[in-house]
Amino acid sequence: MKTVNHWIDGKSVEGTSGTYGPVTDPATGARTTRVAFASVEEVDAAVAAAKAAYGTWSTSSLAKRTAVLFAYRALLDAHREELARLITAEHGKVHADALGEVARGLEIVELACGIPEKLKGELSTEVSSRVDVAAIRQPLGVVAGITPFNFPAMVPMWMFPLAIACGNTFVLKPSEKDPSPAILLAELARRAGLPEGVLNVVNGDKVAVDRLLEHPDVAAVSFVGSTPIARYIHTTASANGKRVQALGGAKNHMLVLPDADLDAAADAAVSAAYGSAGERCMAVSAVVAVGGIGDELVAKIRERAEKIKIGPGDDPASEMGPLITRAHRDKVASYVHGAAAQGAEVVLDGTGFTVAGHEDGHWLGLSLLDKVSADADAYRDEIFGPVLCVLRADSYEEAVELINSSPWGNGTAIFTRDGGAARRFQLEVQAGMVGVNVPIPVPVGYHSFGGWKDSLFGDHHVYGNDGVHFYTRGKVITTRWPDPEDRGVDLGFPSHR
Ligand code: NAD
Repeated sequence: MKTVNHWIDGKSVEGTSGTYGPVTDPATGARTTRVAFASVEEVDAAVAAAKAAYGTWSTSSLAKRTAVLFAYRALLDAHREELARLITAEHGKVHADALGEVARGLEIVELACGIPEKLKGELSTEVSSRVDVAAIRQPLGVVAGITPFNFPAMVPMWMFPLAIACGNTFVLKPSEKDPSPAILLAELARRAGLPEGVLNVVNGDKVAVDRLLEHPDVAAVSFVGSTPIARYIHTTASANGKRVQALGGAKNHMLVLPDADLDAAADAAVSAAYGSAGERCMAVSAVVAVGGIGDELVAKIRERAEKIKIGPGDDPASEMGPLITRAHRDKVASYVHGAAAQGAEVVLDGTGFTVAGHEDGHWLGLSLLDKVSADADAYRDEIFGPVLCVLRADSYEEAVELINSSPWGNGTAIFTRDGGAARRFQLEVQAGMVGVNVPIPVPVGYHSFGGWKDSLFGDHHVYGNDGVHFYTRGKVITTRWPDPEDRGVDLGFPSHR
């Protein structure tokens, strides 16, 4: 059985805690790998390596840092296939989707290649006689990233490329469910010329996370995962004096107005609800049909959903793969089993689905629940699986009120031909990312990604300008080069002359 170890100080380091977690191939249910869980001492070793590397890395020139990042970009580009295969083997998503994940992560490496432009400071000359003021941004020190299972390459790439481009050193704690892509990302960074200790990976569970949250040498923590853990990370790391951005879970609504192109809306709903088996934080999990279009829209969604081909992620014919673990598969199925008792119409029930020859895989077919009420569990909870809830609303106002009363505010979308309604929606809706006829409005790398309410704890979104801001702190320098005529004691408060 393959063992995934840690990556500390530029090399693979075997785990010594004696504790390992299982990694399964979701398409077969077979345990293929074990992942070492770091002890407190192993986390301390990674932080110490990052701290030791910080002095040289943070003062190395922008030219040197970006040379490494450009080389890294080229290596990642050359290893897209290998990364995607690792993602599919441990996460289960289909190969084309895994390639898409790598491409979206690469966007942030490309942004990081242009870091000199982002780190240009500000200068005001002659703010007073012979006085200039400069504003610069400097790195924080050692920063930690803790990431979820559903994007084992992209979410780490949301964090460390920008963090290290800004001059920080980094300790990543990837998901224990699919840890291999993160190790390959670190190996490639080393091959690109990243000095030892600048990027470290510790694998593990709560023991490793808690040590990072309390370690006195960790200056900041970036987290992406479920809402309860995001809240915990934010509270604990803040209490320990660290800067924190903690992105949580979601329930993303797609509002469909009566004037929308219903075929386009149905295409979008099926793609966004069932892609990656619904295991995306930006998946559409609730469609709100406004006016009398509900029956027609549900029929169109059903017609498309029934044609989706489910199978192993490495089969090019598969459009949707299995779920991450058996336990998660069973939990998702329980929402479908309980839906009718809570008043929903079960239009499609995917819970009996399996793939011949792969019966132990974590399979679920597509489920479609109609006329779901706002107090049903299937609507109130983040299911994180291939289950789409359709709710009905009589008016635009009722639909927006429903969306705005959700505790989450990650992404949302409106489908309409009415520009005025779309404009009103983008201003009124309480979510961090809004799509207009775009079902999954994940911002490109040079804008920032983040939700509102229980979808993000902290002030900063990730990547884009917010990411640069998160990984740096400001300093303002006021300079006077004295002239003989400036001499003389003056006990007054400094004022402008
Ligand atoms: P998770 O919260 O279970 O785990 C995320 C990370 O936290 C992992 O590295 C895990 O090891 C660690 N962790 C888990 N329990 C912990 C504990 N008790 N104490 C300390 N650390 C702990 O999330 P997941 O199941 O891996 O990922 C799915 C979730 O992530 C979904 O809720 C999804 O919406 C969310 N997500 C959000 C975004 C976003 O951008 N907002 C993006 C991707 C995923």
